Amino acid sequence: MTCCEVCGNDYELAFTVETKDGARHVFDCFSCAIHRMAPICEHCRVQIVGQGVEADGQFFCGAHCAREEGKVGIVDKVGSLA
Ligand SMILES: [Zn+2]
Ligand SMILES: [Zn+2]
Repeated sequence: MTCCEVCGNDYELAFTVETKDGARHVFDCFSCAIHRMAPICEHCRVQIVGQGVEADGQFFCGAHCAREEGKVGIVDKVGSLA
């Protein structure tokens, strides 16, 4: 059996997330996965569940927060498709 590494729930439908550096994480639900895996916005500290933006190795929930932290030239990609 596999136990969720966040809440310890022993759940037969638990799933594994494998990151690109080869680490494996086991979760029983997406909210636990988000709790463990989602990056934190460097500006407003919200957990980033959507795409977010990355600048200089830092994650932000959106271009607005990136700009607030002095990152220039960041624009939201969402909605920019023709
Ligand atoms: Zn869990
Ligand atoms: Zn933010």
